[in-house]
Amino acid sequence: MVALTFDDGPDPVYTPKVLDILKKNHAKATFFLIGKHMEEYPEIVTREVREGHELGNHTYSHVVLLRKSKSEFQEEINKTEQLINEFQRPPKINILRPPRGRINNRTVFLSHKLHFEIVLWHQDPGDWAQPGVSRIIRRVLSGIHKGDIILLHDAGGNQKQTVAALKVIIPLLKKRGYRFVTLYELLKYSKKYDRLYNFGLENILGKPNTPYH
Ligand SMILES: [Zn+2]
Repeated sequence: MVALTFDDGPDPVYTPKVLDILKKNHAKATFFLIGKHMEEYPEIVTREVREGHELGNHTYSHVVLLRKSKSEFQEEINKTEQLINEFQRPPKINILRPPRGRINNRTVFLSHKLHFEIVLWHQDPGDWAQPGVSRIIRRVLSGIHKGDIILLHDAGGNQKQTVAALKVIIPLLKKRGYRFVTLYELLKYSKKYDRLYNFGLENILGKPNTPYH
């Protein structure tokens, strides 16, 4: 099992394209949503949930959380989680991906206090920078391992390359025996996947292989 994760949506152009590819391939994914975008495109969030995908929290306005006051921090996260709860019913886990993957001890402490798991990633092809379709494919596939969390973006800019790469990545990995599941599903079996917990940062899932973005 591996988990595809898409950040920064929903987006009216690219998210439906991503959803079409997932549907065609019977693949499930997790969408880390920006609260203010959810308010703009609620029908896309409805579709994500209806088609069996999971929603995660990517803050309300995509701010780096490191230097936010405690109340700003809580507002960014709680406001978004309230929106998520309007669409996604329990059982669910509260998952947070801090923008740009920027975390420190305080971010971790405050997140856990709000009962969130911080989810980073193992495979980061840097798709947001449009490095080319073949490069995105190569970067995702190189060194991929069971239990991996893959970082992609369905919003935030021109995501044409992400969409094109996804069309290749999913069938290729399926041929190699991988299944695409939500983070909830991945976590249920995560004890089998020591790798998720072996990063020294307790309770943080995945680890950026680039400094940040
Ligand atoms: Zn983001």
